[in-house]
Amino acid sequence: MTKQIYMDYCATTPCDPRVVEKMLPYFTTFFGNPASSDHAYGWTAKDAVEAAREEVSRLINAKNHAITFTSGATEAINLGIKGVMEASAKKGKHIITNKAEHKAVLDTCAYLEGKGYEVTYLDVDEHGNISLDALENAVRKDTVMMAVQYANNETGVIHPVAAIGTIARRHDVYFLCDATQAAGKLPIDVTADNIDLLAMSGHKMYGPKGVGVLYVNSQPKVNLSVQQHGGNHERGRRSGTLNVPAIVGIGKAAAICQQEMQAEALRLAALRDRLESSLTTAIAGTKVNGKQAVRLAQVSNLLFPGINGEQLLLSVSTRLALSRGSACSSAQRIPSHVLMAMGATGDAAHDAIRFSLGRFTTEAEVDEAVNILVDAVLTL
Ligand code: PLP
Repeated sequence: MTKQIYMDYCATTPCDPRVVEKMLPYFTTFFGNPASSDHAYGWTAKDAVEAAREEVSRLINAKNHAITFTSGATEAINLGIKGVMEASAKKGKHIITNKAEHKAVLDTCAYLEGKGYEVTYLDVDEHGNISLDALENAVRKDTVMMAVQYANNETGVIHPVAAIGTIARRHDVYFLCDATQAAGKLPIDVTADNIDLLAMSGHKMYGPKGVGVLYVNSQPKVNLSVQQHGGNHERGRRSGTLNVPAIVGIGKAAAICQQEMQAEALRLAALRDRLESSLTTAIAGTKVNGKQAVRLAQVSNLLFPGINGEQLLLSVSTRLALSRGSACSSAQRIPSHVLMAMGATGDAAHDAIRFSLGRFTTEAEVDEAVNILVDAVLTL
């Protein structure tokens, strides 16, 4: 593969070399099973897992025991939604979410609908925002959970999580927040913001793939019906031998993010603004989706007028790694459900391009990417 400029950090991030270095001994020297309580191999592995749990909990201001390690955010979301809904069947079968959530939430809700649960899908406006009034008005006696993501994976639009948490608490409804794109990028405080369940993923924050976290509140206590049975790992919430190297990796990734988040966000916002202003100046009529909303610093979702997104990406694909919408929907070649929820027509929802920058993006790369894109758009 020839070297490309990578601008698809929302799909996945490279593992930070500091993370890899920390993980490596846990494949070989310290290979023990943390559940082996009779010897030092097990104790060493357990200590490493607990140190990682501490690092992750610090990132979101949670108690250590509230952290459950999973295989990724998708599993965390499935466990959070199905687990809570099953355990709360006596209270009701109603969930509130919105039309611009990630498929991990939407498909889990759709699955539950097939099992007799009811889901209210709130609209988002043309900027990608939900209405807090609509959210509150949607609460019913039998509502168990509201699931609203922290930040959108296609547009970077950030939701008012603290206000959502307040509404959830006022109505005694659980708040599940998919923070996969926000964790490590924004300061998250599950305690102050009344978040009851929160999902995150290692590979979106410069950690490894195949590891994620479900935070589960204990005050008030969230009852969770277990989805994976076995050896009673993770306080019985998620059985299966722990992926120690990956857990060590997500712990280190969390610690680095916590330390560097503020400076990184400022640097990335400047690069993102440079990219947007260069492209909107050079290509008349370029639309920035979600521009009026509060957005993540590193994401820009652009629509170039009259340009077929798929053709554009193909024409730059040897030099630029970009995507149309999320990795899931670009694989399926379908228009973005997020942009359609924001009112885009089929074509506009199909042709928009997501630029997502990250820790290793440089100013020179941004300038080169702009040149490549402007040439490609003019040619097309
Ligand atoms: N939620 C959001 C907002 C995402 O962007 C993603 C990944 O693209 C996921 C959930 C799923 O994460 P994972 O790959 O860890 O299963």
